[in-house]
Amino acid sequence: MSHDDLPTDSPAVVTCGLPYANGDLHIGHLRTYVGGDVFARALERLGQRTAFVSGSDMHGTPVAVNAEQAGVSPETFALDWHEQYAETFPKFNVVFDNYGHTHDETNTEMTQRFVRGMEDAGHVYEKEIMVAYDPDGDQFLPDRYVEGTCPYCGTHARGDECDEGCQRHLEPGEIEDPVSAITGNPAEYHERTHKFFAVSEFADYLSDFLDRLEGTSNARNQPREWIKQGLQDWCITRDMDWGIDYPGENPQDLVLYVWVDAPIEYVSSTRQYSDRVGSDVFDWEAAWKEGVSEDHPEGGEIVHVIGRDIIQHHTIFWPAMLEATGHTEPRAVMASGFVTLDGKGFSTSRERAVWADEYIDEGFHPDPLRHYLATNGGFQQDVDFSWEKFRDRVNTELVGTVGNFLYRSLLFAYRNYDGAPEAVITSEAVADRIDEAVADVEAAVNDYSVRAIGDAVVDLARFGNEYIQRNEPWRLVDEDPDEAAQVIYDCVAIAKAIAVLFEPIAPEKCERLWDQLGEAGSVHAVTVEAAREAPAGNLSEPTELFEKIPDERVDELNEKLAERVAAAESDDDDDADDGGNADDGDDTDDESDTTDMTDVEPISDERIGFEEFQDLDLRVGRIEEAVGIEGADDLLELTVDLGVETRTIVAGLKRLHDVEDLPGAKVIVLANMEKAELFGVESNGMVLAAGEEADLLTTHEDAGPGTKIR
Ligand SMILES: [Zn+2]
Repeated sequence: MSHDDLPTDSPAVVTCGLPYANGDLHIGHLRTYVGGDVFARALERLGQRTAFVSGSDMHGTPVAVNAEQAGVSPETFALDWHEQYAETFPKFNVVFDNYGHTHDETNTEMTQRFVRGMEDAGHVYEKEIMVAYDPDGDQFLPDRYVEGTCPYCGTHARGDECDEGCQRHLEPGEIEDPVSAITGNPAEYHERTHKFFAVSEFADYLSDFLDRLEGTSNARNQPREWIKQGLQDWCITRDMDWGIDYPGENPQDLVLYVWVDAPIEYVSSTRQYSDRVGSDVFDWEAAWKEGVSEDHPEGGEIVHVIGRDIIQHHTIFWPAMLEATGHTEPRAVMASGFVTLDGKGFSTSRERAVWADEYIDEGFHPDPLRHYLATNGGFQQDVDFSWEKFRDRVNTELVGTVGNFLYRSLLFAYRNYDGAPEAVITSEAVADRIDEAVADVEAAVNDYSVRAIGDAVVDLARFGNEYIQRNEPWRLVDEDPDEAAQVIYDCVAIAKAIAVLFEPIAPEKCERLWDQLGEAGSVHAVTVEAAREAPAGNLSEPTELFEKIPDERVDELNEKLAERVAAAESDDDDDADDGGNADDGDDTDDESDTTDMTDVEPISDERIGFEEFQDLDLRVGRIEEAVGIEGADDLLELTVDLGVETRTIVAGLKRLHDVEDLPGAKVIVLANMEKAELFGVESNGMVLAAGEEADLLTTHEDAGPGTKIR
């Protein structure tokens, strides 16, 4: 890995977190895959040799548990989902160079090679631990086979992850009051010998690594906290049949923990790509191993695109495994926020989701959804999807700005010049503006901001609209034909630049635009240099690139969703949820990238009446006391004076503020907020704060506690 600006001469590998081969994909799941695809395409447009890889995660107890319930073998069960995913991603123009799975020969062999490497380097040891066991079912209960109480936060937790509470990875034996997830029987703890990877030995390396790591700030800040708290060694084996066998002698019949072989699939999948295209096109070893390539002894540029729920695996366990075995460390980790639906979490069990297939079956084109998911918020922010918001973005940006500019200028060129006017060059101002857009895309890639890639193009289209409006070629065509020809030629040049620069976001639409422009070959094969080159000018009759979404469609889709949720609720009130879940308040971004205007959300078009505002009982409060909450990394229990009474309010301020400085601070409180229990503390009100840094709202003068905000 280098730290030169991208693109570099080294081979790059962009990966997406492996989907669990375990259930239908909804559009919330697609965010990281679209983000990864946009980033990989943008890197390629910049001229970087890039492999874009992923694969299905076949192992682990969620797959085994669900296969058991479905009455089929885990392999059959997982392969079924794997094939579905392999078909679904291309429908959204997410085109991996290789999409493998963790149970194939390449990954099995690669995983065993990694583990032997870790052993040979002396980083693996055996230890006796207590493992949950179901005496009635006569079986061990690894990971998701056991449920109980999280020892850190007291929340109900499943197996290896406190996914409803503090989000911590849980080691075997840590869960309290264990119960078998299969039979519901109370579990016993039995002593077993397991293998451990000595992650704690890598604390110094990982600290330095995090200082080098690029990508989103959440992927650095959370792990720094974990290292500060002290790293635990990591149990890498499990008592179960489904998985990759521990290599070598294995008297206990152990398989490897799913999080060992899952990230190794990134390497295996790159290898399969190399094997298919030849190492002269892409050399997986030069990318993944240090010292293999003479030209790039530091290895390739590895960029992991993941959901923020798996930051720990990608910034602690995985880089330690790579370091232990002489592989290339990641250059960047981009960890996305979640996607919500109408402001609430997706719930697959409650059918509260827009399914990936459903979106396509409703007749929508994939590119507008890609645009929405990639550009609706900063990458680490949560993004809310609703059909209304989707309609607004499509109708204003894609149809109103980009589509409108392309259609009006290309139609004018086609009708008046039978193509583009000849024998002129792009005027200097327009050539400069195109250069600026290219530079914006380059900067966006180096900022790991897929949103800024889209913004650069929409801004260029906006410039194009202003340019054509200001110069009125329809008037000039009689008064000053040369000037009219220049203006239209400029517009065709802008259209060509849009085709090249928007390809990462809207690949299929841009290929169609490329054809309309009469350009040779495929837009997927050019670099950004093509944006500056003279247009071919051989236009065919243009058609509108994007379609408006009518209001009636939105009503229809909302009704469908509401009916389905109601039907699911009436026959199931299970509260199981999934990875597209809403924010748990666990954000820890403490870098000041929030002042970047590209991260400011657009202002809502939905107006509210004064009466609705008055429903909010907003008061001035004064913080009397601020103390941490046992088990919660970023929550504080605040005692707040509201004049008429004193309230206990829980707020996520611990990592973002100096706790000692808070008492005495005046704050603004939403006093009639619903009560909520967080980590066993009842929060009675909400303290208002701005942005990801939780900048506290206050008053300028001397309004005392209890004063109403009006
Ligand atoms: Zn917990």
